[in-house]
Amino acid sequence: MLKFDVVVFGAGPAGTVASSYLARKGFNVLVLERASFPRFVIGESLLPSCMDDFNEAGLLEGIDQSKYQIKYGATFVSGEKKCSFSFDEQYSESWSYTYQVERAKLDMDLAQQAIKNGVEIRFQSEVKSVDAKESQQITHFENAKGEQESVESRYIIDASGYGRVLPRLFDLEKPSSMAARTAVFSHFNDAGNSQVDRNKIEVHVVDESNAWLWLIPLANDCVSVGMVSSLEKANEFQLNESDNFVGFLKNFKGIEKRFKKTEALRAVDQLSGFSVAVKKKYGEGYVLCGNSTEFLDPIFSSGVALATKSALLAAKALERKLTGEQVDWSLEYEMPISESIDVFRSYIKAWYEGDLQKVFFAEKIDPTIKNQICSVLAGHVRDTTNPFVKKHKTIIKTLAKVLEIQNRK
Ligand SMILES: Cc1cc2nc3c(=O)[nH]c(=O)nc-3n(C[C@H](O)[C@H](O)[C@H](O)COP(=O)(O)OP(=O)(O)OC[C@H]3O[C@@H](n4cnc5c(N)ncnc54)[C@H](O)[C@@H]3O)c2cc1C
Repeated sequence: MLKFDVVVFGAGPAGTVASSYLARKGFNVLVLERASFPRFVIGESLLPSCMDDFNEAGLLEGIDQSKYQIKYGATFVSGEKKCSFSFDEQYSESWSYTYQVERAKLDMDLAQQAIKNGVEIRFQSEVKSVDAKESQQITHFENAKGEQESVESRYIIDASGYGRVLPRLFDLEKPSSMAARTAVFSHFNDAGNSQVDRNKIEVHVVDESNAWLWLIPLANDCVSVGMVSSLEKANEFQLNESDNFVGFLKNFKGIEKRFKKTEALRAVDQLSGFSVAVKKKYGEGYVLCGNSTEFLDPIFSSGVALATKSALLAAKALERKLTGEQVDWSLEYEMPISESIDVFRSYIKAWYEGDLQKVFFAEKIDPTIKNQICSVLAGHVRDTTNPFVKKHKTIIKTLAKVLEIQNRK
């Protein structure tokens, strides 16, 4: 039987960050990846905090800048009102840029760099079942030839994203705290729109029902566009039909000129019920990270940032565990990751409940406050010196009320 120190399920951002970190520390790491790469995945707008995590995992040098659109910030638009954040105006110490990426390319780059760093990756290898014990784990998988194989390891990291291998096998799934929503999305030709700021993503409020659109410019004159809404709203517009989607963009006030001559570059995809959660994030001989633990909502591009953050923290704790140290997984892993997720949860709820929109689209906002909010949007959700992290549960509601009163005067 194959034998490794660590077996990782999935070669997305969480899987490559965790495996690369551990391989560079001298551990023997095997990644089992169901798909053959490159493969399409949604999740194209990164946050600056990802850059720190890629760097620490030794993956940054594998990211070929020339393939990606640089991202300097985000602009939120509601009718005539606009609120723009630039990552160079922040409270926390941070990268001032990151990337807007085609995930097929990014995940390929990350996987290739992880291999250079000593990780073994087996593509087209789907994990089927697991026997997990305290000191010895057996993973059964189907290899690229369709044969059944098994691998023994000291530990398992489940980074299988929506595959959610261990949450399914070990009955760890629980309902998400987020309302059920759906997303319809595609890539469109964005050529000839030189007046557009391609270095920022745009988020447009569609209507009072909390539907919103993302516009993520990608390299090669392409833009990723998606609408997130209730299922009823998506059905009303029938945007899953390519012609309807193009027609919708051509008539949407504020972007109609940009999409006047556009065409869809790929079939429209639809994903529903993407918000997921788990009862616990670790157990005897295994730890979960990335979307395999929890995914909230696409509004603030937190998915990849939480995937890389959780993967790095899990890998660091595991490094200590494998060298014989005691690890308190609850204190050292589950709590900090849950706290990070909770900060984003507060902002996402505040967006859908309208308080954050009141703040973003207020006539005036104090620059210090804006920089502090910008750091949350850059993914620095562990910086508790930032009051917009520390008091995340209440501060947006309070600020929205204050701004409302000021605006009435
Ligand atoms: C509509 C929508 C829009 C989004 N937009 C953004 C965005 O703009 N920015 C952002 O940061 N995030 C975004 N996200 C979230 C983002 O897609 C995820 O959070 C991110 O991809 C999670 O990374 P991961 O490594 O955990 O999982 P993935 O990237 O999903 O990787 C998991 C890997 O595991 C493999 N796998 C699955 N099952 C098995 C198995 N049984 N055996 C072996 N391998 C397996 C899969 O093939 C896959 O390659 C969005 C999500 C949605 C739904």
